[in-house]
Parts: sequence; structure tokens; C-alpha cells
Amino acid sequence: MKDFGYTLQPDFSIDFDRNDKRMMLYVVNHEPSLNLCIGCGSCTATCSTGHFTSFNIRAIHTLLRRGETHQLKQEIRKCMFCGKCQLVCPRGVNLRNVILRINRAIEQIG
Ligand code: SF4
Ligand code: SF4
Repeated sequence: MKDFGYTLQPDFSIDFDRNDKRMMLYVVNHEPSLNLCIGCGSCTATCSTGHFTSFNIRAIHTLLRRGETHQLKQEIRKCMFCGKCQLVCPRGVNLRNVILRINRAIEQIG
């Protein structure tokens, strides 16, 4: 095969039909304000844990809404529940309750 000087990248498409959305439904049922998120990133920019680690709260709730929950278990434990993310959210998302519900969903759904 001719060498064009580049390689094909893996497929990064998200299959929403195949992803497990049980955890997302559990969290949204208990904290509907998550549906108001516009993904602005203010929560991540102000996150206390994010200043010292690679923890990214916006990435966490984005993965949750996509149904990609396999990475959440280790990451969510880093949150200190300080509530700064919630104070700056322009959409009024109750992020501390979102994080609490993600923890509950991990316990109940796995
Ligand atoms: S600050 Fe609020 S609206 Fe912005 S990404 Fe975070 S949760 Fe979503
Ligand atoms: S409550 Fe958790 S996610 Fe929000 S700013 Fe504090 S450490 Fe970050």
C-alpha cells in the first residue's frame, strides 16, 4: 500500500443508541436542572479540585449525558463538595446534587 505520510484515526463517533443511559436517567430524574446545562465550562474553570488535578466536572456530566459512564467511578471521588461550581453556573444547575446523585447511581446501578 502506498505511504501517504499519515494514518487513519480510530472512530470517535458516539453511538447514543448503544450507550447505557440508566445512570443519566437516574440523575436527571432526581436533579432535572442538569438539562439546563449549555456546556459553558464555568464550573470547570472555577473547580477547586480541577486546580490541582486533572478533574473536569464539565467532562464528567457531559460523559454522563452521553451514557459513557465507565470512566466516572474513579473521577467523581475527587470532588470535595465545596460548591464553587454551583455558585458560578449561569444556568443554575444544582451541581452538588448532580455529583451526589452520580455517586448514588454508581452505588445502585454500578
Ligand atoms: S457552569 Fe453550568 S451551564 Fe456551564 S457547563 Fe457547568 S453546569 Fe453547564
Ligand atoms: S463541588 Fe466538586 S466539582 Fe464543584 S467546584 Fe467543588 S470540587 Fe469542583
